[in-house]
Amino acid sequence: MLPVLGVDADDTLWENEERFHEVEQRFRDLMTPWADSETADAALLATERANIARHGYGIKGFVLSMVLTAVEISDAAIDARSLAGIVGWGHEMLAHPIELLDGVPEALDALGSTHRLLLITKGDLGDQLGKVRRSGLADRFWRVEVVPEKDPQTYRDVLDRHGVDPAEFTMVGNSVKSDVLPVLAIGGWAIHVPHTTTWVFEEPDPDELAGVEFPIVDRLGDVPGLLAG
Ligand SMILES: [Mg+2]
Repeated sequence: MLPVLGVDADDTLWENEERFHEVEQRFRDLMTPWADSETADAALLATERANIARHGYGIKGFVLSMVLTAVEISDAAIDARSLAGIVGWGHEMLAHPIELLDGVPEALDALGSTHRLLLITKGDLGDQLGKVRRSGLADRFWRVEVVPEKDPQTYRDVLDRHGVDPAEFTMVGNSVKSDVLPVLAIGGWAIHVPHTTTWVFEEPDPDELAGVEFPIVDRLGDVPGLLAG
């Protein structure tokens, strides 16, 4: 039996953050009558931070946070149509075509010849599964797991469910906080493939990084060579 390689999805296989940044710009523009960009950004971030446990990760939570923040910033002066417009931005995001990152299908083909590939992603179940389907990559994966949070206990549970020993498991992803540190914490291995930008909620605590070492590669296409060596 081939060893199991965990693979993150958003910003590891395809663009994701960029979609959020585009909509954040629309949100700033919509808030112009009441707030400058910095104020709007800070208010939205504060709402997201306060609600992430309730909203979860993903587009729906992002939309709810924008609606709440718009009402707050405008002191309830924003019109209902504009609020419906924010919901519409979310619908656009949900339907956005998948943009695979460079060389991803080829990299997965190479990795799939030496490993059983276990996609592990967090966010809204329907949205995440829909992206896997629309990506055209679904049949490259042995299993797909959508989880509410990527912490050590979640990884332990997922690996246990699939009968995988953490010591023989490697995870690959763009987030040190979600894809690397929790896997190292349960005795597994991890490879960091940074994306161009990192969402502020995915920035690791510097204390947690102290004394921790893991390989970093430029792109997913570099992982097969690294694993072979
Ligand atoms: Mg990611």
